[in-house]
Amino acid sequence: MIVLASRNGRIGLAAAVDVMARGGSAVDGVEAGTRVVERNPDDPTVGLGGLPNILGEVRLDAAIMDGNTLRGGAVGSVRRHVHAITLARRLMERGPHVFLVADGAERLARDLGFVEEEPLTEQATAAWNRRLQERFPGLDTRRMAERDDLMAVVDELQLSMAGWDEMKREGHSESTAHGTVNFLARDRDGNLATAVSTSGWAWGYPGRLGDSPVLGAGSYADNRWAAAASTGTGEVVLRVSTARSIVLYMKMGMDLGRAVREAMIDLRALDDPLVDHIAVIAMNRDGEHVGFSYREDERYVYMTDTMSEPAEVNMVSP
Ligand code: ASP
Repeated sequence: MIVLASRNGRIGLAAAVDVMARGGSAVDGVEAGTRVVERNPDDPTVGLGGLPNILGEVRLDAAIMDGNTLRGGAVGSVRRHVHAITLARRLMERGPHVFLVADGAERLARDLGFVEEEPLTEQATAAWNRRLQERFPGLDTRRMAERDDLMAVVDELQLSMAGWDEMKREGHSESTAHGTVNFLARDRDGNLATAVSTSGWAWGYPGRLGDSPVLGAGSYADNRWAAAASTGTGEVVLRVSTARSIVLYMKMGMDLGRAVREAMIDLRALDDPLVDHIAVIAMNRDGEHVGFSYREDERYVYMTDTMSEPAEVNMVSP
């Protein structure tokens, strides 16, 4: 058995391996690992501690897929819950729908007995205030909801996405504006699963969804071929269905490395600078894995039941 994750998933690998070593499935593993990251208040990109949208609200997105049954569940723009991945899983198992957002997803959480918990932390609110004040000195951040020019405000803060160089000069790191956790697992029975959870694009327009909750774009699992998931700006991944493309390229005869590379080349064809921030991890049905990234110095992590510590692997450039 093996579990792979984006680098920020390192803290959840042992929990994922443990649950699978005790007989849990790949789906159990990816959910367990993701929950650890969602609970970490020091990760500004996922769950508790996630950075808010332009209105100062944290809305979480998550998706889970079972490569054995090809069933999936996804939730988007969920408020007042930390474990979006568990809500996605319950939706996958409960059906009949696959994807619920905002009020509907929150309502399902209530119906299923989830206890409400606000993921917005004081640090995240302070970061939001600071970011807005830097760009718009004197702005009354308490009155953001009353504005009719919110997209212009988002545009102005867009340098947090499109102009990384400027943002880095200002002392921000990519990981503070942006990020996601990915988990991929292969269990003892050879079943594959994926889980993805994120607070999305920090300071984004209300209602914005990226690739992370969209099955086929930000993640996909199919026992016959592979499991794959991405991090980075969903606006580009959404337009080329990266995760499902990898599975399809394998079905058409490519090996894992070639398939991921091809899907990354599809992204490049968009001719969009946001592609520079995409990374993909993938694993075939035999548990062989790869990571490709347009970001520099990117790594992913993995762990098996015979390892006492996670291992880090350098991603390669497509
Ligand atoms: N993929 C996430 C999104 O677009 C964010 C990220 O990974 O940076 O919401």
